[in-house]
Formats: sequence, C-alpha cells, structure tokens
Amino acid sequence: MEGGIMEHACTRRQLITGFGLTAMAVGVNHFSGTAICLASSKTGGDSSTGATFQLPPLPYSYDALEPHIDMKTMSIHHDKHHAGYVKGLNEALKQLAEARASNEFKLIKHWTRELAFHGSGHILHSLYWTNMSPVKTKPDGILLAMITKNFNGFDSFRLQFTSAAASVEGSGWAILAYQPHMKQLVILQAEKHQNLSIWGVYPLMVCDVWEHAYYLKYQNQRQDYIQNFFEIIDWDEVSTRLASVI
Ligand code: MN
Repeated sequence: MEGGIMEHACTRRQLITGFGLTAMAVGVNHFSGTAICLASSKTGGDSSTGATFQLPPLPYSYDALEPHIDMKTMSIHHDKHHAGYVKGLNEALKQLAEARASNEFKLIKHWTRELAFHGSGHILHSLYWTNMSPVKTKPDGILLAMITKNFNGFDSFRLQFTSAAASVEGSGWAILAYQPHMKQLVILQAEKHQNLSIWGVYPLMVCDVWEHAYYLKYQNQRQDYIQNFFEIIDWDEVSTRLASVI
C-alpha cells in the first residue's frame, strides 16, 4: 500500500511559528523546522486547542527503499513503532491537560518523561522518513561546503557518522546536526532519544539504529544497514533543513 505524498514546501514563517509552538509542547528545543512544519501543518497537534497529532504518511511506498531497507521492516517500523509514539504523545498531552484542569500534579514526573520520550520519537521518525529517498541525491552547495570544512572532507564525515552510528550502545540514533551557537555541524549519538545531547542543536539528518529499523533484513550486521542507508539519503532535504536554520 502506498503512502500519501508528504508536504515538503514549508514557508519560513510556518517553520518558525510551528517551531515555537511544538518546542513548548514537547519540552525540547532542538528539533528541526522541517519536522515541526510537518507536525504543525500536516499532522495536527496543538496542546492549546486539544488537537491531536496524527501519524504522517510515508512520502513513498513501503517497498520504495528496497533493497536497502525492506518493505516488511518499513511497514512495521512506520505503522507500529512510529504510530506508537504518536499515540503516546497524544496520551501524554491529554494527561497533562487533565492535570492542569484539576490542579493535580502527582504524576507530573511520569507524564513529562512520557512527553519527552514519545515527542522525540515522533519528531525523529518524521525526520528519518523524509531524510531518505528512493531517488539518488548528492550533498552540494552550503551543506557540502560545511561538511567539508567541519569534518575535513566528505569521506571523513561519512566515516565519522558511520562509526558513531555503529557504536551507539543498544538502541538509539546517529544525528547530523547544526549547532547555532558553535555555528558548525556536529555528529551526535542519542542513546536515549528523550535525553538531550546539546541544547539548541537542529538535527539535519538522522539514522535510526534501533534494531527494529534493520533487524529483519540485517540481523546483527548493523554496519551493513548503515552503509546501505548512505545509498538512500535525500541530500536535497538535508540541504533544505540546513538552509532553514542558518
Ligand atoms: Mn525507529
């Protein structure tokens, strides 16, 4: 079954407006404008009006990334795992609204953690689906210039990213991000995606290395999955995300 086409054209105003709103809603401030635009314009979600978030459709069919990522993994990953984060995010927002309505904050620690866990899961998966594409692209322009400058060339960047992704303990993410205060690109590992790595970073390109993202096809060969991931990165989308924050 084919998913719908995801909205890619976000205005800068949408990005900024959506960013402020959702950053407050999920309690973190390092998510990229692109995902926020998806979250605010396409998948709903506004804690002030009670609107709930919805699972965004994949921007391509489940088998579009074959043979690099297989259809069964994609359908389970999107329809079960990502859907679970959306459900959990909505539940956390509902429970927090009820807590505010009743002035009863006994479980605030639990629901704040749930908000961070499911909110991060929803945003990171939204970024992950859209920073992959069945159409081959290459990094260029400002993105390539910054990768070259900050990592001493694309080959060194790729080696550092794949090494970081392969060595995340247990489950987690590898993230290429722009840190506006440092004014440079950085590669980070997120072992628990609800925990922040550096406040203020904008994730530009993410690789899901939880086993559910690759285990059916690759089993314990995570390195093979990461190498194949590089064949399906949508560098145009990564450029758009970078341009929206610098
Ligand atoms: Mn995942």
